[in-house]
Formats: sequence, C-alpha cells, structure tokens
Amino acid sequence: MNFDQSPMLVIWEVTQACDLACVHCRASAQSDRNPDELTTEQGYRLLDEIRRFGEPGAATHGAPGGPGGPLMVFTGGDPLKRPDLFDLIRYSVKIGLKTNVTPSATPLLTEDAIDRFKEAGVSRMAISVDGHDAASHDDFRGIPGTFDRAMVALRHARDIGLDTQFQTTVTKRNMGHLPEIAEIVTEMRSKMWSLFFLIVTGRALENDDLLPEEYEKVFEFMYDLSKTAPFGIKTTEAMHYRRYVAQRMKAEHGEERSAAAREVAFRTSGVSDGKGFVFVSHKGEIYPSGFLPVSGGNVLHDALTDVYRNNELFKKLRDTSARDGKCGICEYQKICGGSRSRAYALTGDILASDPRCVYQPHAAEALAG
Ligand code: SF4
Repeated sequence: MNFDQSPMLVIWEVTQACDLACVHCRASAQSDRNPDELTTEQGYRLLDEIRRFGEPGAATHGAPGGPGGPLMVFTGGDPLKRPDLFDLIRYSVKIGLKTNVTPSATPLLTEDAIDRFKEAGVSRMAISVDGHDAASHDDFRGIPGTFDRAMVALRHARDIGLDTQFQTTVTKRNMGHLPEIAEIVTEMRSKMWSLFFLIVTGRALENDDLLPEEYEKVFEFMYDLSKTAPFGIKTTEAMHYRRYVAQRMKAEHGEERSAAAREVAFRTSGVSDGKGFVFVSHKGEIYPSGFLPVSGGNVLHDALTDVYRNNELFKKLRDTSARDGKCGICEYQKICGGSRSRAYALTGDILASDPRCVYQPHAAEALAG
C-alpha cells in the first residue's frame, strides 16, 4: 500500500445536523442542517474525485480500497438528515466505491431506511454503542431510547443480511463495561468492533479521557479478546495499540508470529491522520482527520487527490521521522507514530508526542543514560 498516493479510507461528513446530543460529539452537532453544506451536485463531483484515487495509471500502486479506490464512508452528524443521502450512496456504489454509512440511532433510522441502505449497495452500516445498557448509553448520547433504537436497527440489519459494525468511544465512563459491550457485538453478529479513543475536541471532555496507563489496560483487554472474538477489532486515534500488539506478539511468539496475529496487528499498520486516511467536512474542508481541524484545502476549489498527495501539511504528517519528542525517536514510529489529533488537541502542536502513550523508546533511555 502506498499511502503517499492514495488513502485507504475517505470519510465525508455529509452534514453536521443530528438529533442526538452526545457528550463527546466531535461535530458539536446541531439539529438543523447548515446551508453551506456541499450540494448534491458538489457531492457527485467529490465522489468522482475520490474514485480517481483508484484509477489505473493514477500512480496509486494498487489503491488500498481495491480496484475501485478507497473505502468510502458517509458520516455526520447524522447522514439521514440529508434527503439526498440515498442518491449519493447509489452514485458512490455505481462508480465502484465500496461504501459504508454511519447513521445515528434516531427515529429517522427506520427499518425501511435500513432496507434502502441494503438496496442501494451499502457494504456495512456502523452504529455507535457506548454503553452496555440503556441507562449508560442514553446518558452518553443525551436522548432516552437511543440504546433501544440502536439494538432494533442492528437486529434488523442482521436479519436482512446487511453487515454491521459497532463503534464505541472509550472513556472513563465505559472502560469497565467493555466486556459486556463485546457480548452484545457477538450477539448481533457484527463484523467489526471499532473502538474510538477520545480526542478532547467538540464536546469531548478531558476528564472523560483515560490516563496513559488506562489505555494500556484497555489494550490488554482488546488484544486478549482479539484472539477469540468472532469479529474484527480496530482502533481510531489509538495508533499505539499497534505498538502494544507488537510488544505482546514478541513476548508471546518471539519473532515467530502467526498469520492471525499479524493480521490483528497490522491490518491498519501505519494508517494515521493524513496517512491512509482523509476527512472531508460538511463544507468541503479537507482535513487529515475529523479530529484534527487543520485544513489542507477545500474540495470546492482544490482537487482532493492533489491535496492528499501534495499538500505540505499532509506530506509532513506522513513523514513519521519528522515527529518531535519521543514519537520522533521511537522504534515503533513506522507502525504507530502517535495520534496527531491528540497531540494537536492537547498541545497545539501537530508534531508533538502523543501525550497518552506510556512507552519510553530505547533511544530516549540511551539519551537519558
Ligand atoms: S512513543 Fe509515539 S511512536 Fe512510540 S509507541 Fe508511543 S505514541 Fe507510538
């Protein structure tokens, strides 16, 4: 995979409108749509541009998303707040993009809407589940009944054969209940559990974030679970989970790693903000991540392919040796590199070390000694 040429994943925040009021909301979502959102026509042009990442001769060296280009994810806010959502999804699928959607569990997420996702060719529907029961989840999401709606939606998708993914934002509130959430993921026969680690932005509160040592405890749980779980497990904004997995594999297998263990560790190896990943905001701003509000351009006047490949911000973020502090000298920097979003949110410097990583690189010990 050549992440200098093509991302593995493109996320388009089609709207910030949403009827939930989640305590950690990245978008600080509102119930009304912003009049400056990209229009339907601008959306079609954006999808065409995303497809260009995967065109033969576009120097992608085999786009990670497959011959059709990167994986395309429609997110929000709540994508269902856009009446043209199904037209946009159909177009995305028609031009060959593997397409996922992340609706909010509101009254808009009816069984009919889920049927239409399947008919339109959606590959996977991702639903947020942040609590192990209605009380904890609804407290987090700000609206009573949200947990039950999420369960109804996940069950219906399971029954009609639409693949699903759980998304859980890990905080101090729920870190003790992750095993119970894992049981629900199993019951729903979801394909993937995606664990988001908090970035203090939007409504996210710093005192909800884990301590660096608590990250390690959650990593231990995830790694142990990954050996037996009937679903995949991945992280967002916890690049140092790959360092944890590499350390555990080395301790358990020496240099002899099983294919399954390698898959766990390196499915997303090296992917980080602006490297293998790009986020387009509801107004068309091109960000390295939805949690890193530093713009490289705008799709209204810049080609997404050009910004991703050639913009100095994106090039700087892909150069893991250019990190400051311990991330800059860490022997795991190629598979990890730390979260640039977290570094920026907590220090104001996109190249600073990830403040939530406990690891001390050997070179740092040598320098200190
Ligand atoms: S020090 Fe930085 S690069 Fe090394 S494991 Fe921690 S976050 Fe990753």
